[in-house]
Amino acid sequence: MSYGYDYIVGNMKCAFCDSVSQADSRTNLQTKICVRAQLASYTIGSRLDLDTCIPDCGYVCLVQPTISSSFNFIDFWGCSACTRINGANIELEEGVIICITCISSSDNVIEGVNYISDDYDLYGWEICGSAIHRGVVDLETGELMISDINLSEK
Ligand SMILES: [Zn+2]
Repeated sequence: MSYGYDYIVGNMKCAFCDSVSQADSRTNLQTKICVRAQLASYTIGSRLDLDTCIPDCGYVCLVQPTISSSFNFIDFWGCSACTRINGANIELEEGVIICITCISSSDNVIEGVNYISDDYDLYGWEICGSAIHRGVVDLETGELMISDINLSEK
């Protein structure tokens, strides 16, 4: 039986309220990157059984990795303190998670990412060439506005 996703867990710092999450699935950092998703929780040191074609499992390729099992990717999680959505950049080396870095409020343009979850636009990001830009979603209209606004002002 396939559940469609797994969790990546860690003590992640919210870019908006600075709360640090518990390292469990309450952050709801769902990843679709494993070939047999089974609601497992993975963290630094975990080996992922990667899908052979990452773009086919719900990711957009920004920069093609040189080694197919060593790359980084962005997925999204929710802060349980303030409920806002954050991004996390997960780095793999030969299929093992070696680093989980939260996107900070000052990271408005991010380059060098191999893959990003294809629901990035729901969370206020836009793809521009091989980089991603933070956009601001107008909650009234649902429209995404590309912007250099520093979200820390909000
Ligand atoms: Zn928060």
